[in-house]
Amino acid sequence: MQTTTLIRNGTLILPDGERQGDILLAGERVAAVGPALAAEGADAAIDAAGCVVLPGLVDPHTHIQLDTGLYRTPDDWEVGTRTAACGGVTTVIDFATQFPGQDVRAALAARQAEIGARAQIDYGLHMMLTELPEEDAALDRWLADLLAAGVNSIKVYTTYRPNYYQDDAALLRALAAAARRDLVVMIHCENDALVAAATRSLVAAGRTGLAYHGRARPALAEVEAAHRALFLARAAGGPRLYIVHCSVGDTVAEVTQAAAQGQRALAETTVQYLTLDEAVYRGEHPEWGVMQPPLRAAGEPARLWARLMAGEIATIGTDHCDYTLAQKRERPEFTRIPGGIPGLETLLPLLATHGVAAGRLTWPRLAALTSANPARIFGLAAKGRLAAGLDADVVIYDPRPETTLRAERLHNLAGYTPYEGWRVQGAVRDVFVRGRRLVREGEFVGAAGWGRFVRAQTADPVI
Ligand SMILES: [Zn+2]
Repeated sequence: MQTTTLIRNGTLILPDGERQGDILLAGERVAAVGPALAAEGADAAIDAAGCVVLPGLVDPHTHIQLDTGLYRTPDDWEVGTRTAACGGVTTVIDFATQFPGQDVRAALAARQAEIGARAQIDYGLHMMLTELPEEDAALDRWLADLLAAGVNSIKVYTTYRPNYYQDDAALLRALAAAARRDLVVMIHCENDALVAAATRSLVAAGRTGLAYHGRARPALAEVEAAHRALFLARAAGGPRLYIVHCSVGDTVAEVTQAAAQGQRALAETTVQYLTLDEAVYRGEHPEWGVMQPPLRAAGEPARLWARLMAGEIATIGTDHCDYTLAQKRERPEFTRIPGGIPGLETLLPLLATHGVAAGRLTWPRLAALTSANPARIFGLAAKGRLAAGLDADVVIYDPRPETTLRAERLHNLAGYTPYEGWRVQGAVRDVFVRGRRLVREGEFVGAAGWGRFVRAQTADPVI
């Protein structure tokens, strides 16, 4: 017997706009969306009057239970997907890492084993490549294997020696192979030589405190690497190139310019670059803002917002990474502190506040950036929209209460949030993943094991 739930009288956020109405969830799918659906026969009816009813968020960039080889976040998939659900994120697309000497199938199997039956929400995976096989034929086989296994994206880095860095020759090979097989290439852009030189001169001057983190990784390093990646992609046959966590407007401008010339290029940003700046490094808690790329100069969030509002950014993710405060404080030098901040649970309230309530985004635009677009790019056909036949991944967001973000109320392990004490507009009220209610009136009621791996298809060709 499948359960049916009728959500009534909400403001539905649909691909073509907002509409007052009802949505019927039957089993794991949306059965109907309409102005006044009949309540008879529904097992449960939920009144969403005054609330916004959104498609569940699809975060295209998370690092749950991350092991970099140097540092390890202490969360697992039960914790990571619980904090996601509490934030209205119903699907995460995380990473499997292909370690040196490992085949991608083994890497994927190892990551799936780690996740086990702990996920509470659905998830997809990107494949992070750290060492390419010597022969192009072998690389092509890897990508074919990935597509067959439901992974449509690879991730490469232009920095982080010795574990992730790829030189231009390796990048070119990966891009060309991805063009042949039509995979999405995600790329972390920071010019390694510029970062290394800035770091060396700061260290030589004894300036290793967290206050110098931003200066060690200049914005120019990001813009140059993005520019180069776009050129290499063009030379490599034009695979779909997705530049992760753009932190300055100039990086987005590079993507926009390439796209205007017909290149398949997409920009992602994360909510921290839209809401925080490098003042964090001079404040009382600089460790709250240590990530790569770093937070930028005071004017950059406004420049990113302008690009976002002009339609130049495809997705907003979190780059969620749940290191604890103890880990962050253990080695208070920018060369040694683990980089990354938690964000899954604060993404939607922050965008509702600094995007929608501030007049920068409409709700349908927010839904496109955080749900429809990532689902289309990463080939999750049953996700990203409220529409009959698709997965019943639904968030009821009440935009009326003003609430305060507090680390102690979040469902992750970090023990801090860079948004401590921030006032936000609204709160996540109810969350459904494939028809099952995981959050009820703000309380988590889910269970480990409900989440499933979602197989990616080739990216939607129109995006
Ligand atoms: Zn990341």
